[in-house]
Amino acid sequence: MKYKPASQSRQEGYNQALMTAPDFSFDLLARQGNARVGVFHTPHGPLQTPVFAPVGTQATVKSLTPRQVDELGASLVLANTYHLYLRPGDELVAQMGGLHRFMRWEKPILTDSGGFQVFSLAEMRKVDEDGVTFKSHIDGSTHRFTPEKSVLIQENLGADIIMAFDECAPPYERAYCELAMNRTHAWAERSLNAKKRPDQALFGIVQGGAFPDLRARSAGFISSLDFPGYAIGGLSVGETKEDMHRMLELVTPLLPESRPRYLMGVGSPEDLVNGVLRGIDIFDCVLPTRLARHQAAMTRTGRLNMMNAGFARDPNPIDASCGCYTCRNFSRAYIRHLIIAREMLAATLLSIHNLHTLVQLMADIREAIGAGTFEAFAAEFLRGYESRE
Ligand SMILES: [Zn+2]
Repeated sequence: MKYKPASQSRQEGYNQALMTAPDFSFDLLARQGNARVGVFHTPHGPLQTPVFAPVGTQATVKSLTPRQVDELGASLVLANTYHLYLRPGDELVAQMGGLHRFMRWEKPILTDSGGFQVFSLAEMRKVDEDGVTFKSHIDGSTHRFTPEKSVLIQENLGADIIMAFDECAPPYERAYCELAMNRTHAWAERSLNAKKRPDQALFGIVQGGAFPDLRARSAGFISSLDFPGYAIGGLSVGETKEDMHRMLELVTPLLPESRPRYLMGVGSPEDLVNGVLRGIDIFDCVLPTRLARHQAAMTRTGRLNMMNAGFARDPNPIDASCGCYTCRNFSRAYIRHLIIAREMLAATLLSIHNLHTLVQLMADIREAIGAGTFEAFAAEFLRGYESRE
């Protein structure tokens, strides 16, 4: 497939970007066990890792303004290729100056390949060796993604980090996992060949379900290709925690030490700590904002259901140890009142708190790794955390 720039001026823009593009180098600053602190250099500034990225599915982190997301200390936002391709369309986003300008987020952005969402459509898609044909969840119209098409859409959107097109299979279906892994490998090479923009980092994705031999094979193959970063896909999709940890322990040592590692779709506090312990640098998840819309607050000791009748006259903040805008200003009683009155502010205040909890957790993790105290920090954190999946 031949790449055709939509306009001469955009090609010129890419060439200009090449002159000033950072090299997407990754500086490792500190290490403790498998955990590391680093800086990944992007065209929209350096990213300190380990980092948690809030998800802005439709080019917006739900219920928050970009200024609020920025003030929370978030440094990387994820946007979804499948959704933005369907609405408003990647070409429209390009005409509006790209995703950063369109959504007014000046820091780094990551887009997924669209694969995960398409494969989640179940009855509405058909996969072959070349790509996948699917029906839009909005109007039922038929569309087709290939590795080349996914890269082209992501080039139009213009994120700093873009993802190779991959197939995520149910984690315990061996035959399907192997088939999807082989497709993912072929598609990774095609994604690399299709990429034209010099100012975007294309990450490869390791698949292989919950099968150690497939994971090892996939990590070996994907890391043999020269990607500036590597993702681990197909986890947190229904496998046990033990299997997720086992796969991470197996895969991360097989990935290049000098490149960032991204665990896709993972973001509960305990999963972040467990991921960093096993060598992960980048995480993303809808969890903090989704829980906020379902009346749940994340804390370092577990989740709180803010509908709880016990909070009706509770003057305390959600979390007395939290320094976020919500906890500095509002009581549990007020937040419960907003939820019951179906006020929009409930989701905003809970999103601020939940995102702050994860962003602050990552900052504390970076500090602990730098100080050489992360293993003790992690052990104490996991002992105090009540898991409620
Ligand atoms: Zn708070």
